[in-house]
Formats: sequence, C-alpha cells, structure tokens
Amino acid sequence: MRKDLDYYLNQIQKLRVSPGPGGIKAPYQPLLLLSLIETIEQGLVLKNEFPLSPELIAIFIKYRTKLSSTYYQADIAQPFYHMSKKSDSFWHLTPKPGHEEVLASGGPLNKLNKLRDNILYGYFDEELFELLLSPISRNALISKLLDTWFPDKIDQIRSLLQVHEFEQLQFKLKEKGGAIYTTDQVDDLEHAVRDAAFRKNLISLYDHRCAFCHVRIVSYNSQNIVDGAHIKPFSKFRDNRYTNGLALCKNHHWAFDRGWFGIDNQYRITIPHDRLTEESAIESRSMQDFNGEQIVLPEQKDFYPSQEALTWHRQAWKIAS
Ligand SMILES: [Zn+2]
Repeated sequence: MRKDLDYYLNQIQKLRVSPGPGGIKAPYQPLLLLSLIETIEQGLVLKNEFPLSPELIAIFIKYRTKLSSTYYQADIAQPFYHMSKKSDSFWHLTPKPGHEEVLASGGPLNKLNKLRDNILYGYFDEELFELLLSPISRNALISKLLDTWFPDKIDQIRSLLQVHEFEQLQFKLKEKGGAIYTTDQVDDLEHAVRDAAFRKNLISLYDHRCAFCHVRIVSYNSQNIVDGAHIKPFSKFRDNRYTNGLALCKNHHWAFDRGWFGIDNQYRITIPHDRLTEESAIESRSMQDFNGEQIVLPEQKDFYPSQEALTWHRQAWKIAS
C-alpha cells in the first residue's frame, strides 16, 4: 500500500485509546501525536528525531490539563511507548547505543525514567514526516486528528495550538526570578519541565558560560556543555530561584557539588589548598590556578548567586573564606 496522505489519514483513525476511569476512552495516543505535531509547528524539530524533550512534555501536559483534568492523567511515557507497538505503526523508537536488547525484549518502557534511560528518540515513517513538514498536509492531518478524537473540542485545541507552553513557562519563571516548590506541588512530569526551564534560563543568564572557567561550547542543535547547577541542593531545599544557581561546565559542576571549591562573598573562587593533587592537561590551566579569581556573573545583579546560598555551600564543605 502506498504510504501517502490518504493512508495516514486512515491510520490516524485507527490509533488505540485506552479506557479511562468510568469507561471513558482516554485518547492519549492522539494527544501525543498532536503534541509531536505541535513541536514541528513551533519549529523545534530539525529532523525526524523526537526525544522526550522538556518542550514536548510541556506541550503534552498543556493538553492533558487544559482539555480535561479528570481523566487525562497518563504519563507521556505510556503513549510514547505503546504507539510504537502496533505492527503497522508509523511511530518507531530508537534505543540508546548499548540498550538495543531492552527494546527488543519487549519489556514495557512505559515509565518516563525507563524510556529516558533506554530510548534516544522516537521517529515517524519518513513518508509521514515529509507530510508533516508541509503546512498543507500537516493541517489536513491535524484536522483529521481533531475530527476523529476531539470532535467537541476542536476550537479549544486550535487555540491551544497557538500557545507556546514551554517558552511561556520560561518567561514567567524568569520574570519571577524562579520559584520555590513544596514537595507535593508538582508531579514528576511537571517537575521535569520546570526543572528544564530553570536550567535553560539559568544558563542563558550566564551567556552559556561556565562561571568557573568561562568555557562556552554550544552545538548546532543547542546542546551545550554548561549545566544549570544548584548551589543548595534541590532535593533538600526545593529552591529553583536563579539566586540559588550557577552555570557550570560538567567538570566544575561535579567539583562544586563535592566541595572542591567554594565562592567567597566577593564572588571569588576559593580552593582549599590541601585538597587536590593535579596535573593539568596540555596547555590548560590547573584548577588551583583559578583560586582567587572572580567568577562569571549574570548581567543583572538581581540574578547574582545569593550570599546566603554560597555561605551555606562553603560551610557544608568546610571551605574557609
Ligand atoms: Zn568550567
């Protein structure tokens, strides 16, 4: 059978839905498909590869909560995995290198952490992906999806399609300087999105540079070597304000989390002299060379790391200032 637009319009009608509470059918697969299409619509997709990105999760949550908070409760991992299981499915999963067997064994990967550990990304049939890139056929597919699965919510979804959920969350958080959460406030899925928004904002406040060594490397697909790091650990303090954060490269993030260095009240790097034995790589400075140097700071003072957090970190690791 030719895999053309008609073929996929027909496939959309055959998506599986699981019965929710009270026997109501919960269309998680249509909801996921809609979310995936929206990432294309938003220009977030460069090629036929769809990792479980915070942007995708944010879109899925947007629909799940705004369409019906009562029965759209599934984790995005369930449809992300199950949609690939149908024999003639147009959705497929690529395992991470070394994790091929986990996928081949058919063990269900229907939990977010399991999927993240084992799956690199999902992808569409090439034919379908081509159709989704073209605005005209994409619109035909969206219309079929809405007519079939959400006939009473078409207008609502059309207007939700215009809302860039992740960008909005990032913007809102930045306006507020971040947020502090109580443990029961957000579920795991929402936490993953909020955490990603916090880290992305934080990194851009530091111009994608490591506050310690100033390194800045950004790849073509916006991955970068710098992390958004917490000064006081999130697990204990639930503090996602930018004043509790620093942008640090992988090495210096790891070192900071183990108290290899602290930052004093003048924002200078403090390295206890008796803790490290090091031999630096060719042409690069040793860590201890940075002792006493000023860290990179955000442009706006409001976003500087707080003295309270930095003092907490020095005391926790017994670093004299
Ligand atoms: Zn660094």
